[in-house]
Amino acid sequence: KINIPGSVKLIIDVLENNGYEAFAVGGCVRDTILDREPQDWDITTSALPEQVKELFNRTLDTGIQHGTVTVMIKHVGYEVTTYRIDGEYNDSRHPESVEFTSNLIEDLKRRDFTINAMAYNEREGLVDAFDGINDINNKIIRCVGEPEERFGEDALRILRAVRFSAQLGFDIDEKTMEAIKKLAPTLENISAERIKTELEKLIISKNPCKLITAYNAGITKVILPEFDAMMECEQNTPYHMYNVGEHTIKVMENVSADKLMRWTALFHDVAKPLVKTTDANGRNHFKGHALEGSKLAPQIMRRLKMDNKTIKTASRLIECHDDRPASKGFNPEAIRRSVHKIGKDIYHNYLELVYADFMGKSKYGKDEGYDAYVYACKQYEYIMENNICTSTKELAITGKDLIALGCPLGEKIGRALDELLEIVLKEPEKNTKDKLYVEAEKIIKSL
Ligand code: ATP
Ligand code: MG
Repeated sequence: KINIPGSVKLIIDVLENNGYEAFAVGGCVRDTILDREPQDWDITTSALPEQVKELFNRTLDTGIQHGTVTVMIKHVGYEVTTYRIDGEYNDSRHPESVEFTSNLIEDLKRRDFTINAMAYNEREGLVDAFDGINDINNKIIRCVGEPEERFGEDALRILRAVRFSAQLGFDIDEKTMEAIKKLAPTLENISAERIKTELEKLIISKNPCKLITAYNAGITKVILPEFDAMMECEQNTPYHMYNVGEHTIKVMENVSADKLMRWTALFHDVAKPLVKTTDANGRNHFKGHALEGSKLAPQIMRRLKMDNKTIKTASRLIECHDDRPASKGFNPEAIRRSVHKIGKDIYHNYLELVYADFMGKSKYGKDEGYDAYVYACKQYEYIMENNICTSTKELAITGKDLIALGCPLGEKIGRALDELLEIVLKEPEKNTKDKLYVEAEKIIKSL
């Protein structure tokens, strides 16, 4: 027995009481069986979109030409889609047309994987025409029908197979895998937005290592060739036992399952293959890779149509990920300067990345950066708790105050603020209005 939320039950009841069939379907059925929290509840019905709209007060025409109406219950939307048969996919992208049907099994047949092709309601119980339960029990991702045919209709399914395998920790069925390898190049026809959605779900899952499965299947070669370059870049330094790609996966596993952190980890060493040099002893060097990476990563992220804020923050973190937090010694001032340079708002992300990076490097475990990291964490905590100033914006006096004191307008204000910050970074207790006025008067005279 599957537990469906009250609102979903209500929608199904209303449809059934009016002579239609209705079932919860797809991901929500799969996730409930697996004891996972479903993202959303989808309903499939024999009622036509216009008929659905007549039965509910509040509806939205989400994708009415594809049969989808969103029914609003208590401010939550539920997608109700008419049983449909997808037409031909001429461009590996969109069905040319959809055709409505009154047969549930026909609707289940168009779905991608057996585990996603189950329907449930209380009257009929589980409708599992393609043995999805068996595949759930055996932890297998398997196409509904002929894999080559199904991937030929919509190439995105190739990436979805790996994405589900990463999210659920399932293996991909052999025949399905063969078809993936054969048809991976057709992913070229899929829009960047659709790729990004699936790739992001893959990398924020419990198993980002499945990116290596995608590499072995020839998928990343098409959608993220930079990962192939990383997999094919040996490091051979005293610190690294892995190639760049394998190390990247370790770092992804070591950061939290958060979009920003996983994308940043994925691209933190992305420029290594570009800057690699080998010395006379056969040792490799990657001089300037962090800076180069901060230029290459945003290009890739823009290509994937990611949002500007993530692109900007990730690039900034990549640029400074090799900076040592206590490069100028274990003292509070060094960490205040480090926080100033990297930015208070992203310093916790920076520390998380630094930790994940050195934990993913060496077969010897923690390297010499560990003590510096621990020290920086403690100092950062102190800075946050005590509102210690690490930027000109946090100074106890402002540009306006400087003007009132007679500071000339223009760039001199900025210079004066920088000098004041310099004083405060050395001696945080000087960040009071009275003390900074005294300092400011001296600085203004000397400008
Ligand atoms: P998630 O938990 O990520 O939402 P999901 O299984 O619900 O996973 P959706 O992309 O929300 O995936 O799609 C809902 C359902 O629609 C799927 O379970 C599947 O039955 C069907 N589906 C979605 N995309 C495709 C596709 N490209 N080809 C065939 N069926 C698809
Ligand atoms: Mg879903």
